[in-house]
Amino acid sequence: MVDRLEQMYEGKAKKVYRTNDPDLFIIDFKDDATAFNGLKKGTIEDKGVLNNLISTRFFEVLQEKGIPSHFVERLNDREMLVKGLEIIPVEVVVRNVVAGSLAKRLGLEEGISFASPVLEFYYKRDDLGDPLINEYVVFALKLATPEQIAEITDLALKINQVLQEFLQSRGIELVDFKLEFGVHQGKVLLGDEISPDTCRFWDLETREKLDKDRFRRDLGQVEEAYAEIWRRIQG
Ligand code: 5GP
Repeated sequence: MVDRLEQMYEGKAKKVYRTNDPDLFIIDFKDDATAFNGLKKGTIEDKGVLNNLISTRFFEVLQEKGIPSHFVERLNDREMLVKGLEIIPVEVVVRNVVAGSLAKRLGLEEGISFASPVLEFYYKRDDLGDPLINEYVVFALKLATPEQIAEITDLALKINQVLQEFLQSRGIELVDFKLEFGVHQGKVLLGDEISPDTCRFWDLETREKLDKDRFRRDLGQVEEAYAEIWRRIQG
């Protein structure tokens, strides 16, 4: 049994607590939702509960396929036990279909499938709105080592393959997603969460959006979309 100690950090969607084990932390998933770098704020009822369930399921699926992550176990409705990470300040986005910021940046219509996955790095800096960077910036600023970037690239593309296959059989198209990595005892581990907050999920047939874009774009039925993702991936 681990005991929850003091809060260490509060982010937009999660709180992190220390525990009596210096190596383990508790993530508490909140219902708060933000978009456009905090400009749009709201709550999505039971989002925390659903994202804890959904992330747990994805981390378990990935662990079965040999992807190392900070996930230890889901403790209760809103809490997940994780290993402590030294976070690498680089957000990794993998894209299979044109959407969001890439559609805007390259003047492409949303929904076009890429011939091969697109991998992007963003500098994790809220005050700058997480700018797009490349490996040269990562190395010049010593955000990660070349070995770590090679490992992260390998893991991100493997995660894409595993999740694409898992979701496809459940009628979900994995459009794109964001990952974060960190170092634990010298090893690169997948961190953060994998949920409709951090991924774009479309219904495979109708291409209906089943993710946070429903909140970002005021499409309604936000809670229903998160619940639908959980319904399709559980068990
Ligand atoms: P885009 O760059 O098109 O806005 O986002 C690409 C993908 O990464 C989407 O699935 C989006 O949810 C995720 N993503 C990118 N940046 C962030 C971020 O700062 N927070 C969250 N929650 N997701 C992000």
